[in-house]
Amino acid sequence: MKKMHNFNAGPSILPKEVIQQSAKSVLNFNKSGLSLLEISHRSKDFWKILEKSTHLVKLIMKLDDNYSVLFLQGGATLQFSMVPYNLMNQKAAYLNTGIWAKKAIKEAKLFGKVNVLFSGEHKGYNYITNKYVVPEEMDYFHCTSNNTIVGSQMKIFPNTCVPIVCDMSSDIFSRKLNFQNFSLIYASSQKNISSSGMTIVIIKHEILEKYKKNIPSYMDYKIHLKNHGIFNTPNVFSIYTSMLTCEWIIQQGGLEVLEKHNKYKSKLLYEEIDRNTFFENKINKENRSCMNVTFFLKEEKLKKEFDNMWKFENIVGLEGYRIFGGYRASMYNALPLESVHVLINVMKKFEEKFS
Ligand SMILES: *Cc1c(COP(=O)(O)O)cnc(C)c1O
Repeated sequence: MKKMHNFNAGPSILPKEVIQQSAKSVLNFNKSGLSLLEISHRSKDFWKILEKSTHLVKLIMKLDDNYSVLFLQGGATLQFSMVPYNLMNQKAAYLNTGIWAKKAIKEAKLFGKVNVLFSGEHKGYNYITNKYVVPEEMDYFHCTSNNTIVGSQMKIFPNTCVPIVCDMSSDIFSRKLNFQNFSLIYASSQKNISSSGMTIVIIKHEILEKYKKNIPSYMDYKIHLKNHGIFNTPNVFSIYTSMLTCEWIIQQGGLEVLEKHNKYKSKLLYEEIDRNTFFENKINKENRSCMNVTFFLKEEKLKKEFDNMWKFENIVGLEGYRIFGGYRASMYNALPLESVHVLINVMKKFEEKFS
């Protein structure tokens, strides 16, 4: 296979070992003579996968038995409505820190009053403030830990008695946080976990005890929990792959080690963007993302030249989000340092050539 440098935003790069083991299991799962794609989700084999995946997620995030883990479908997008459907009585507080956060707000408005405590939209989402107070009467506070499209990241979470709900789709497993401070965490699988089509939802049980609501079964967290995560047929493949990724994370030394790598990789790239006279990053320095690094050419007319240069080096996925433009280097856990060096070298060569 040709060696590629995969900066895709999602679906995106996964550890090589995870891909290899998944491929083996698709051909012959545990030497059973069956493909992983052919086993029943009610079989003992799958039950073991589900239990282990759940156990490892909690182990990595240091969560106790007050939490349950669900592997649902519908992406993080379904959580935008599932969260308010289950948890909103009258009003909730939201931060509008990026394009996904805005989408979450749009859905929440269908279920009650949304109090937007901060919006960075008028400044192109180039910063996130810490200067807001979560009103105590809110049913929950919703935030997006990493803004995948614009390339910003929350470094500080509020100290509040209001339950915190967080969309961690693009930085789950990338850094150490005090996960016990969150009441509900969700993340779609295709960024740092596994293949697309699955969403990890981590729920602190007590948050579900507050309201009794009659809601459609698939949308009801309680029904999923009562059915031990197999209320309907889950994404067997993605749950299996997620188990492998969790094993890989532990082999790497856990979130502490990964966080160090991720900080180092992004630091190198930001340093080059800041140094190089042809590029700029528009995000406030304190809010820059370690996962998705966005940058723009100062001279748009050189775009074709730069695109040709990075494509020639087998770099893929560097295009910015369709409505945001520019470039985005997504540097998830599995992206090797080598790929970052290749990109930086292209940027240096580009500068030499056009200065
Ligand atoms: C990718 C992403 C989503 C959407 O995930 P889907 O699986 O497409 O629904 C939501 N929020 C954030 C922060 C994301 O990065």
